[in-house]
Amino acid sequence: MALAEFDLIQRYFAIHQPVRSTTRLGIGDDCALLELPLDQQLAITADTMVEGVHFFPDVSPHALGHKLLAVNLSDLAAMGAEPVAVTLALTLPTIDHEWLSAFSTGFMELANQFQVDLIGGDTTQGPLTLTVQAMGVLPKGTALLRSGAKVGDGIFVSGPLGDGGLGLKIRQGFLIESGHAALAALERPWPQVELGLELRKIATACIDISDGLIQDLGHILNKSGVGASLFWEQIPFSKAVSDYCEQTGDWQMPLSAGDDYQLCFTVSESNRDKIPSGCVCIGQIVSLPGLSLFKEGDLVHLQAKGYEHFS
Ligand code: ADP
Ligand code: MG
Repeated sequence: MALAEFDLIQRYFAIHQPVRSTTRLGIGDDCALLELPLDQQLAITADTMVEGVHFFPDVSPHALGHKLLAVNLSDLAAMGAEPVAVTLALTLPTIDHEWLSAFSTGFMELANQFQVDLIGGDTTQGPLTLTVQAMGVLPKGTALLRSGAKVGDGIFVSGPLGDGGLGLKIRQGFLIESGHAALAALERPWPQVELGLELRKIATACIDISDGLIQDLGHILNKSGVGASLFWEQIPFSKAVSDYCEQTGDWQMPLSAGDDYQLCFTVSESNRDKIPSGCVCIGQIVSLPGLSLFKEGDLVHLQAKGYEHFS
């Protein structure tokens, strides 16, 4: 390992001491060591962000550090796992201390919020590419799978949809008043970690909405072998997103654009009274396959399509 690389890891990452009892050994050896209670399972996920694909070259590095961790914690939330540790693989074109300082601050501020230990990683030179592997714990057998939705279950979302998508439109030059919140939703999404934990006892299936409601709910429907009826009038939107739909007629944007990081989950009739506050029922699981949307009384059949990398 070159001195510059060692110095960089020390300066920006190894200075943060582990706080979790699961972390037996953090940054500094060939591997980190985690220790789990016997009755727990480890949930593991990874997400990569590539410059020019997942973020604009001029994005704030502080926001980028936040978002890189947030999207990974969002996957743990969707599984009902409590985040405990992450690794960070950085591919950097150059060592830019100003950039690294802001990036690591954004990353570690969110890590501290959830008491997640950064336990290792890798640092290489090349086109700017950022990967996090996140690990969470949950009691054996309690994970929120995509495959558990049953006919008759209600379909819920944890908050308004489309703000991330609108934020992207604004970044691309679309002008709208009060677009501030939409930009924040795009650049600093907040992972629904506590809600994920709460849902372990309530939900039959769960997913985080990273590629748009239509596509992500589509994953639940496919894995569960069911269909869904959605009711447009029940789907929560911010004022800015409602204004966007009205102004442009592009009403499908908030259902198909990505970057929302709300949870979408299903709940049986018997648990309806336990729905956490802030969550909204947007429809119902039905036996007829596919996704039927009822909008102003009309039936619109939707194709489950969202962002696809190789299309
Ligand atoms: P090795 O050569 O054994 O792969 P490295 O020199 O890549 O080890 O890394 C030294 C230590 O620093 C390891 O514990 C590794 O996990 C950690 N590390 C490397 N890069 C990062 C990073 N970007 N963030 C956090 N830890 C890192
Ligand atoms: Mg290495």
